[in-house]
Amino acid sequence: MSDAPRRPERTCVGCRAVRPKRELLRVVLPAEGRAALDPTGKRNGRGAYLCRDTGTTCLTQARRRRALVRALRTTSDRIDWDSLAADLDTVPLEVLTSPR
Ligand SMILES: [Zn+2]
Repeated sequence: MSDAPRRPERTCVGCRAVRPKRELLRVVLPAEGRAALDPTGKRNGRGAYLCRDTGTTCLTQARRRRALVRALRTTSDRIDWDSLAADLDTVPLEVLTSPR
């Protein structure tokens, strides 16, 4: 058994790239309300991941392919696409830059 920590990886629901979790941004669907960005990755609810560094490109793809809806096992009306896109553009930089 190796004692090296496993690097958690997730798949972007937009472009399907498998990347380290820190390069992705979590979208959470809470029990109540609509899907939202979860920059801390700690909120309760079903989650899906989008690339951090592609702006809204992966969100747009995920919307077109219904991949986010499927990943969150919900319906499109639980997802406020416009506000998610706006939030993606304003994710705080300190969340974006993680030490290597
Ligand atoms: Zn992506």
